[in-house]
Amino acid sequence: MAKRDFYEVLGVAKNASDEELKKAYRKLAMKYHPDRNPDSKEAEAKFKECKEAYEVLADSQKRAAYDRFGHAGVDPSAAAGAGGGAHFADAFGDIFGEIFGGGRARGGGGPQVYRGADLRYGMEITLEQAAAGFDTEIRVPSWESCDVCHGSGAKPGTQPKTCHTCGGAGAVRMQQGFFSVQQTCPTCHGTGKVIPEPCAHCDGVGRVKTNKTLQVKIPAGIDDGMRIRSSGNGEPGVNGGPPGDLYVEVRLKPHDIFQREGDDLHCELPIPFTTAALGGDIQVPTLNGRAEITVPEGTQSGKTFRLRGKGLKGIRSSYPGDLYCHVSVETPVRLTEEQKAILQQFADSLSEGGARHSPQSKSWTERVKSFFS
Ligand SMILES: [Zn+2]
Ligand SMILES: [Zn+2]
Repeated sequence: MAKRDFYEVLGVAKNASDEELKKAYRKLAMKYHPDRNPDSKEAEAKFKECKEAYEVLADSQKRAAYDRFGHAGVDPSAAAGAGGGAHFADAFGDIFGEIFGGGRARGGGGPQVYRGADLRYGMEITLEQAAAGFDTEIRVPSWESCDVCHGSGAKPGTQPKTCHTCGGAGAVRMQQGFFSVQQTCPTCHGTGKVIPEPCAHCDGVGRVKTNKTLQVKIPAGIDDGMRIRSSGNGEPGVNGGPPGDLYVEVRLKPHDIFQREGDDLHCELPIPFTTAALGGDIQVPTLNGRAEITVPEGTQSGKTFRLRGKGLKGIRSSYPGDLYCHVSVETPVRLTEEQKAILQQFADSLSEGGARHSPQSKSWTERVKSFFS
């Protein structure tokens, strides 16, 4: 629905004086006021319409914008509007706050209350520690009331004063377009008080930073990037607001042998080429000891052996994961002349069998041949 012209809504001329505007508005507002028209949707709409029109035309700046650009010049929801969308959103939040009695610390008239900020504590642990879990102590910042000013923030012998800007409310109201918007008081930053002579010991904050020791339980199975919350151990709140929380964030140090993937572990398993060819038993490390793998004869690089249950148990898992050993066949190095001679002899003996002993190389050679021809 197109908006009606604001002057038309109020029934006044374009050059109407402020006095004429006010008179016209009062008359219409009385006529359409919801108290007088309890069940009339139409009256309600009319009432809103003339209220909106009056609020724009009564403001000389907005009236000028409206005269130049029409509704787009003053409509907060229009992109071209002088007010912009952001203010509208703010104002909206405020209106809901008032309708529902204020979810934030508003409306009560007292200073604004803020929850303290959360703190983050980074902790590096080993894979073994993550698998078993452990108890530890950490030193974290904490705040205690300044014992020079006893928490007031004012120099001993002086008193904090009620903020003049907000009268101690911690917030100021500003008329913004059609809405009244509440903002944190710029003078006292929401505390409702100003300190003419700050305490030198705490710089007027009323508390000083120290350290405290916290007991932390790291549960078995914790993984890289997981956080443990310690409720109420963050920064203190403002004006009696609740404190923030402390988060201990766990980082896993890289392990020499194992890589962790969820509850599973992976490791490289280099085996001598003779074992790979002939087969044999091989000892492999596990997180809490060792295990034996029987390597069958003719094992190739890239083959994976899975050891069930040799991974680790995650925080929410009922069973431990598996250990995957990834085979890499190792080519012997630094051979003596004698060893080389033996190998050459061995190679000669293979060349008769060809495809039978090295099926992969053989088929690869065939593919390369057909590629070049
Ligand atoms: Zn102090
Ligand atoms: Zn203030």
